[in-house]
Amino acid sequence: YQENEWGLAFIDVSTGEFTVFQTPVLDILLTELSRIRPSELLLPLDLVSKHKHWLGYFITSRDRVTFDQVSVLTERFPNQKTILQDLSAAAKAASCLWQYLGDNIPGLDPSHIFEIRTYRQDQWMLLDQWTRRNLELTEPLRGQGRKGTLMSVLDLTKTAFGGRLLKRWIEQPLVCEKLINERLDTIQDLTNNAFLRSDLSKQLTNVYDLERLLGRVSYGNTNARDLLAIKNTLKTIPFIRELIDISETTSLKRYVASLQGLDELAQNLENSLNPDSPSSVKEGGIIKTGFSPQIDELRSISSGGKEWLARLESTEKERTGIRSLKVGYNKVFGYYIEVTHANSHLIPDDYIRKQTLANAERFITPELKVFEQKILEAEDKLIQLEYDLFIQLREEVRNHAKHILEMAKALAEIDVFVSLAEVAVRNNYTRPLIKKDGTVKIIEGRHPVVENMLPGGTFVPNDTVLSFNNHLALITGPNMAGKSTYMRQVALIVLMAHIGSFVPAQKASISVVDHIFTRVGASDDLASGQSTFMVEMKEVSYILNHVTDNSLVILDEVGRGTATFDGLSIAWAIAEYLGKEGKIKPKTLFATHYHELTQLEESIPGIFNLHVSVREHGEEIIFLYKIVQGRADRSYGIQVARLAGLPPTLIAKAKILLHQFEQSQLDKLEQQKNTPIAQLTIFDTPEVHPLLKEIETLPIEDITPRQALQYLFDLRDRIKSYDK
Ligand code: ATP
Repeated sequence: YQENEWGLAFIDVSTGEFTVFQTPVLDILLTELSRIRPSELLLPLDLVSKHKHWLGYFITSRDRVTFDQVSVLTERFPNQKTILQDLSAAAKAASCLWQYLGDNIPGLDPSHIFEIRTYRQDQWMLLDQWTRRNLELTEPLRGQGRKGTLMSVLDLTKTAFGGRLLKRWIEQPLVCEKLINERLDTIQDLTNNAFLRSDLSKQLTNVYDLERLLGRVSYGNTNARDLLAIKNTLKTIPFIRELIDISETTSLKRYVASLQGLDELAQNLENSLNPDSPSSVKEGGIIKTGFSPQIDELRSISSGGKEWLARLESTEKERTGIRSLKVGYNKVFGYYIEVTHANSHLIPDDYIRKQTLANAERFITPELKVFEQKILEAEDKLIQLEYDLFIQLREEVRNHAKHILEMAKALAEIDVFVSLAEVAVRNNYTRPLIKKDGTVKIIEGRHPVVENMLPGGTFVPNDTVLSFNNHLALITGPNMAGKSTYMRQVALIVLMAHIGSFVPAQKASISVVDHIFTRVGASDDLASGQSTFMVEMKEVSYILNHVTDNSLVILDEVGRGTATFDGLSIAWAIAEYLGKEGKIKPKTLFATHYHELTQLEESIPGIFNLHVSVREHGEEIIFLYKIVQGRADRSYGIQVARLAGLPPTLIAKAKILLHQFEQSQLDKLEQQKNTPIAQLTIFDTPEVHPLLKEIETLPIEDITPRQALQYLFDLRDRIKSYDK
């Protein structure tokens, strides 16, 4: 952190991605950190103490001095000088990181790291850590693995780097209409060409993880099998290139150029490497017969030696008359002739004793000694020569690393496009229209994950229309009716459109959204000692402080973690805050069990009611999962509890209590009707105006300028209503 800028640098040494990022906003930095999830965080000493920001990260503190040696980087990456100068806070982070790697991996100067990349946060839609979690983009809310995530539905990639790229696309949706449309064009081309899709898919299964393989080549811990994997991949590339080249799919043609120029390297590797190479590089067996005359000669000495030994064994058997005589070899004593003690009287004079065993004696002859030397020398030479050639090949690959990585990038994109197109066809997705008019209009939208989990055709599609004039939908309806599914489906469809993917809907036109916010479900953050309600309010506070007209907000059951009236008041105030005309008008879906909120539709023009319909059948309710206009009349909580199997006596009691509560509520309303308005204020002293009282207790020191301004606007509106 320096001069109001937060700098961040991160590196994946296995793939060679070295990235820097800078922002003046701490929240954005923390959001990026939660996306990247570093395995270790290097911090200047003075920042370590602000521990609440870094909770959950493995921290290593470094002296500020190590952040100041940027010149090391500018020398190593001369082409990146401008980036490093422009982003001086990030350059400092990068300098510390580079030195840290050097200290911990001696001699490290990975040749596969060619550049330092950077990005601007406004290139991508912002997805804070809660939203990524709540929407289950790449990880499920509960449990391990990918089941139930958007990634699990969209990922039909065949390569490891394709999978990694898709994950990045999902976590960093685009906000540039042109770039989104470019991706959509490519997917559309591929959805129209089933043969190309399946041919490319087949070829991509032969593509290995070039990024990781090159990482190993660069660190020198590679083996012949890695080079073979690179070779096999490079051999596949001409087929992929050819498929794209001859197809009518124009959008993929931009990759043809990057898929060229490595055929010779592939051929060299093929000519030289033994396809059955062992995993060790120090035991020979790496180089193909026919590649090096010297290796072939040494090999023939070594294999000729085996024949010679077999011949020696039979001539010695004949000469000595010992039928059990054996010629053998071990690593300590070398070559020997073994004779059992029972035959020791037949041993000729030229046998020299070498080793005595329990029931045999081992000998050497001058002739065998000469042979031994020749063979062992040949084998040593052979292994060394094979190793040297392997190193030459490795260096040849290393010299092409940049080119190979460019190819990997192109292949990763092709893989992701093929995957997204295949998913779109299989699941009957449609191309969204990307707009700028501030509306989100989805016809017959579906939840991409839930629809896959339900039996085919049983998912009920629903429409969504959010615009500047009707931007906040209050959604009511029984538990289990499908409110959460509906809201997440809208968020996921909007997000998928920004990835450049087709979407699960019959028709969709989506305006570019700068940030999706979600506040869903209750969870304690025990690690930081925060209660469910505190976590909930923090998430809401984050939303209210960052939301803009172009954001999409999903609020599911806000205010449930506290007493009913507190919760209702907070939910009400939040809905008003987001719904008021003339202020920030983010597109918002707000599900609630507080039916009182549905009155807001009448007083605030931007707010409208939706509910999930159910059908009553005697005591039963049937979920229809259909979202319709208007408010729900009841919660059906007791029916849902009955469905869940609560004891009948308990259900009967709950019904009586519900009846009593409803009755007392009606009585209160009746009373209020006959009471003058002034007496309904929560303040008992009629001589002090309630607004003055409110201003008196306003925590000015704790609110942001933006909140203060918002408050002023509210105040003006409320004074107007008092005037009336
Ligand atoms: P609660 O208020 O208790 O959180 P909810 O109204 O948010 O409930 P969901 O969790 O969205 O309800 O949905 C409950 C279940 O209903 C889902 O797990 C899914 O199996 C089914 N469901 C939801 N929406 C649909 C739909 N459109 N079509 C078919 N089934 C659906």
